[in-house]
Amino acid sequence: IRLYSQLPLKVPVQLPNGISYEQPTGLFINGDFVPSRQHKTFEVLNPSSEEEITHIYEAREDDVDIAVAAAKKAFDAGWSTTEPEERVRCLLKLAELIEEHAETLASIESLDNGKSLFCSRGDVALVSKYLRSCAGWADKIFGKVIDTGADHFSYTKREPLGVCGQIIPWNFPLLMWSWKVGPALATGNTVVLKPAEATPLSALYACQLVQQAGIPKGVVNIIPGFGKIVGERICTHPDVKKVAFTGSTATGRHIMKTCADSIKKVTLELGGKSPNIVFGDADLDKAVKNIAFGIFYNSGEVCCAGSRIYVQDTVYEEVLEKFKQYAESLKVGNPFEENVFQGAQTSQMQIDKILSYVDVGTSEGARVVSGGKRIGNKGYFVTPTIFADVTEDMKIVKEEIFGPVVTVSKFTTVDEVVAKANDSEYGLAAGIHTGDVNKAIDVSNRVKAGTVWINTYNNFHQNVPFGGFGQSGIGREMGAEALDNYTQTKAVRMSIEHSNY
Ligand code: NAD
Repeated sequence: IRLYSQLPLKVPVQLPNGISYEQPTGLFINGDFVPSRQHKTFEVLNPSSEEEITHIYEAREDDVDIAVAAAKKAFDAGWSTTEPEERVRCLLKLAELIEEHAETLASIESLDNGKSLFCSRGDVALVSKYLRSCAGWADKIFGKVIDTGADHFSYTKREPLGVCGQIIPWNFPLLMWSWKVGPALATGNTVVLKPAEATPLSALYACQLVQQAGIPKGVVNIIPGFGKIVGERICTHPDVKKVAFTGSTATGRHIMKTCADSIKKVTLELGGKSPNIVFGDADLDKAVKNIAFGIFYNSGEVCCAGSRIYVQDTVYEEVLEKFKQYAESLKVGNPFEENVFQGAQTSQMQIDKILSYVDVGTSEGARVVSGGKRIGNKGYFVTPTIFADVTEDMKIVKEEIFGPVVTVSKFTTVDEVVAKANDSEYGLAAGIHTGDVNKAIDVSNRVKAGTVWINTYNNFHQNVPFGGFGQSGIGREMGAEALDNYTQTKAVRMSIEHSNY
């Protein structure tokens, strides 16, 4: 951390694909970009080159307090009671602007996170679709009329919560921004959001679009900074009524404890170690593509990555051979090259963690079928890695690695694979590959996971809820369920006089 009292509020950035743009560097509070109170800044690195992209202002506790005050004022001053049509208009406009700026946003994401353009274009497309879906909900937040007899009239309303604190990770910076901001705004809340310190750039760029969409000042406040400072203050601030968090289970557990002091509502989208099951009757070429996409997509930095693959013994060697060939055909490298599938890992910390798990797997006696190596010594690139013949007690089978590293083992019966799939503290997702619809439904009923993908994987839709069982989280993102996280029910019961009117 350096002190840059004169850091301009916008700096020019030249992207490797020729796009140049002005990157906001300030905190976005009450509709404007401002320096942080203490004028501290921090460095944002390009994980593909390990070079500095820019510095940006670093929020501290006092900035959180200012942002929360702005959000509270905007909530009380009218956003919570705005005509629903106005919220629809704002969110539709924001979705449209995201679409107009899609290529720049995707490029910023690839620069800042290291993910391939193929992945970041997918993220940005889902961002605009999801914001549009939220716009569609914004004028359909209905309560109920409850028949309680002729003497009373009883109904419920769904009211917004107030200022929502939102803390997001670095693996899908803009997508997580939209999953948090969209439903909060649709339901009349205001937000104070902290992007991950590793990847704050797209969140700030999108704030310019928030301004252009005509979203009132103070409704959206984005304050980059560190978890232990900004994140903590968001969780302890008395005017923050709800905290929505996506990230590691350890931090989620800590956040839940902190929020308990003031009984804040908490939703958590946490880690996973998701099973991906290939039955002998599956279309094996398709299954191999799906299991590869399930683990290597987004460089494996996906909470629901299908990181434990179970293959039926009748096709085990055949699937392993096809999987190895497919993994080795995936192009890894410069995220801006058009046919690159897997870009850089996001940080030094991540690549170190991944490589240390490769060592752990090898020392535990697992067989390296493919990969297991860092590529080059500049930029955080690693080969897609397949470990075979693993046993359930190995650390590489139990713990979330959060990189392009997968374990493969064989099973014989359905009961056996269901037991193995469920032998995890997590429960975010599961994959099933089979040609038998009865088996698909039966196994999907028996696996403990918030999402089950059948003959597909990592396949999201803005109207399909996503979230975890067990230690993978609380609450759901997307779909109608996401709105439930941002409203509270008010029950109104009125006595009716029948004779005196
Ligand atoms: P993290 O969970 O610590 O960070 C996620 C977000 O939480 C960041 O914005 C961070 O600043 C913030 N944060 C950190 N400490 C906080 C605190 N005390 N109070 C409030 N906010 C806090 O994750 P990380 O350290 O970036 O990564 C560690 C591991 O977490 C990864 O290797 C990976 O296994 C896992 N992870 C999972 C997801 C997911 O989507 N499930 C996302 C990112 C990381």
